[in-house]
Amino acid sequence: MAQKIALVGIGKIARDQHLPAIFANPDWSLEAVVSRNAGVEGFDHYNTLDDLLKDRADIDTISLAIPPQPRFAYTATALKAGKNVMLEKPPGQSLAECFALEDMAKQNGVSIFATWHSRYADCVPDLKAWLSERTLRQLRITWKEDVRRWHPGQEWIWEPGGMGVFDPGINALSILTEILPFPVHLSQASLLFPENRATPIAANLSFDNPVSADMTAEFDWRQEGPQSWDIDIETDQGSARLSLGGEKLEIDGKVVKQGTNNEYANLYARMAELVRGGQSDMDLSPMIHVCDAFSLGRRLETAPFEF
Ligand code: NAP
Repeated sequence: MAQKIALVGIGKIARDQHLPAIFANPDWSLEAVVSRNAGVEGFDHYNTLDDLLKDRADIDTISLAIPPQPRFAYTATALKAGKNVMLEKPPGQSLAECFALEDMAKQNGVSIFATWHSRYADCVPDLKAWLSERTLRQLRITWKEDVRRWHPGQEWIWEPGGMGVFDPGINALSILTEILPFPVHLSQASLLFPENRATPIAANLSFDNPVSADMTAEFDWRQEGPQSWDIDIETDQGSARLSLGGEKLEIDGKVVKQGTNNEYANLYARMAELVRGGQSDMDLSPMIHVCDAFSLGRRLETAPFEF
């Protein structure tokens, strides 16, 4: 039988991905939405999460598609009410918030899922399997996109907790932490802040790793023209390029797989599995690298940014 779910925050990602993924999955039945501004035709609408919780005790799972800053309070309220919670990435605005939520889910006997949608891109498992049989020599992440095109008018990404260019950059880090056969840690970073903004517009990162591979990431939000969401890898036995954020895989210069966008379908399938099994999935490793970048990174200033 389908599990009852409510979606909180009817913004860009809710409309682009969450609603279609829920509608396409027979394991889920959308029962209601919570939004301060918008409804979804044909579904119950509540202005606040508290109103929903009071009225709809039958809904067991809450999916949060809101920015990271308000997420802790919403998640804590839902978990304390005994609901399973699915979190958009990043799972919080600080690590301590995420640890606290993980504990709360345990105490209340419910599931929590810190989703990393890019990990669920079609070619990520293939690259992971390929890499597991090779020795890494070099890895370069190039995540360069136009913030005006992908985040028009979104002020929250420029506020503390919004993470700036790490909002997309953490997607690359979620792939990195999934495909590598060993843990790595940040060794150096530089973060470029527009002089009128609280979060960075670009960042360069280097990673220490057990095989002494040359491992770097370049994130930039000022990219006009072609956009890049690529990971280039050199090993002792050939090279690989993951592009389009994980949808396309080339090995030694030949396309071996061109997938489609199934990320959110895969996320909702995973959440259904977690709820059925009474389990949680709260891997915070991508978030650790971002927090380390803010801790270790050299802060540089650049020209003011306006949309
Ligand atoms: P968005 O459109 O700016 O905001 C989503 C919704 O969150 C808003 O429409 C609003 O919903 C609610 N919201 C905003 N500020 C709030 C606040 N202070 N308190 C309570 N609710 C608030 O953002 P988005 O692009 O959908 O991103 C939401 C999350 O999804 C982010 O963590 C982002 O990293 C992640 N994400 C985004 C994308 C993307 O392509 N945009 C892709 C993957 C993941 P109501 O008006 O309905 O209340």
